[in-house]
Amino acid sequence: MSHQRRNDTATAPCDDGLASARQALLVGLFTLAGAVWLAGPGCSAQSGDPSPEETSADAAGTAAPATTSPSARAPREDFEPDPPGQWLALDLHVHAWGASNDAGPDSTPARIAEVARERGLFAVVLQDHSNSTGSDPFTLEEDPALYNQGPEFVHWDEAARLSVPGEFLLVSGNELSPRDEGNDPVGHIGCIPRTLGSFDTDSPFVDRPRGSVTGGEALAQALDRGCFAIVNHPYAVAAWIAYDWSSFAYDALEIWNGMLTTLDLQGRDAWRCDLLAGRQVTPVAASDNHRIEDPPPGTLFDPALGWPSTAVFSAEPSWEGVITALESGYVTLFEGESRLFLDGYDEGRWRAEGAETRFLRVRGHLDAESRRPAELRVTRAFACDDPRPDVAPPPTVSEEVLLEQTIAQGEDFDIALPIAGEPGVYSATLLSRRPSPIDGPRHAAMSRGLVIAAER
Ligand SMILES: [Zn+2]
Ligand SMILES: [Zn+2]
Repeated sequence: MSHQRRNDTATAPCDDGLASARQALLVGLFTLAGAVWLAGPGCSAQSGDPSPEETSADAAGTAAPATTSPSARAPREDFEPDPPGQWLALDLHVHAWGASNDAGPDSTPARIAEVARERGLFAVVLQDHSNSTGSDPFTLEEDPALYNQGPEFVHWDEAARLSVPGEFLLVSGNELSPRDEGNDPVGHIGCIPRTLGSFDTDSPFVDRPRGSVTGGEALAQALDRGCFAIVNHPYAVAAWIAYDWSSFAYDALEIWNGMLTTLDLQGRDAWRCDLLAGRQVTPVAASDNHRIEDPPPGTLFDPALGWPSTAVFSAEPSWEGVITALESGYVTLFEGESRLFLDGYDEGRWRAEGAETRFLRVRGHLDAESRRPAELRVTRAFACDDPRPDVAPPPTVSEEVLLEQTIAQGEDFDIALPIAGEPGVYSATLLSRRPSPIDGPRHAAMSRGLVIAAER
């Protein structure tokens, strides 16, 4: 979203007091389940015996750290510790001045890198629009006075210069933005380069003239280029940037874009339907920030950098680790200091997911700055009424509610839920109120999905 405005001047500069107060909050420590976690994004290491290489995958391919077969192990009294590693917070969808014609002049790569590091992000991906008609509803033909005429990865070299391996990475990606001849949805495809080494930044993405490229064709170009490909804001306030569902070959769905609205929950339902259909799709949350000086949490059309973020669990703070973790789907989506982690264990309390899962463990935290308490909700989705590729109405998910519990501001939680191992998609949300199409809760969090595949 946030493609509503033409080039304009920068908004009010960031309040240094606010920024430093947030930074202070982000470095606060809290204790969770016997492990010490950094409360801010990009943090939290805890150690345990199993190594990340000892990872198993269930039928749907969702990775979860696990060890040897359950029968070989004695039951544990407490849950198997988490593997060694750390959560790395990412903003995978940000626009920069000089490459996206709808970005503010304040959004220089250098300033984006600076603000990202203040907010504890490990990596930011610039997703600059591949053309000018795709990013601006008022530009119906290519305008030579605007950017986005190519090349596509404008800030590649500068992003590399602003990166500090092991500490912070700025990555130049792309948002393929083809348009239909009329006003029908086609889609915005996020291209996240899988490698920062031999990536082809010279070849153009073909996304014009209008009406010549479907969303699926844009997706195919991103996949052919070697991108981790995300369908951005699949259901959007501005219908012309919604996805046409002409291909289901994407790696990820951006189920949370800027402020959380009912449209994001529709995207979340589409993601759960994908998992129920046996597709491996990673859920991601990203800000789509176009104005770097907008302070958190931002507004519907001007979300702040890092609001929301996706965090991935990785053994190493590296780009390779980020991509591997994104592929695994082992993520958490959140704003501010809220968090929501979902793990599965077998009856012996060893980490396991798939048919042998007998406990769900839901851990997390509600940001102390949330205006209201939040409802933690854990569900099992078991069926989907999916009209796709029709773009409307959105899919309808049938689900069973496993837990509803109120979480207070600033509260940590660590809840074990026994389950019978029934097939479905298990996931959780932490919401302080129900969203509307144009407004939503802040400091929310959403979990990944844990899949138990049906017997075939
Ligand atoms: Zn977009
Ligand atoms: Zn965008």
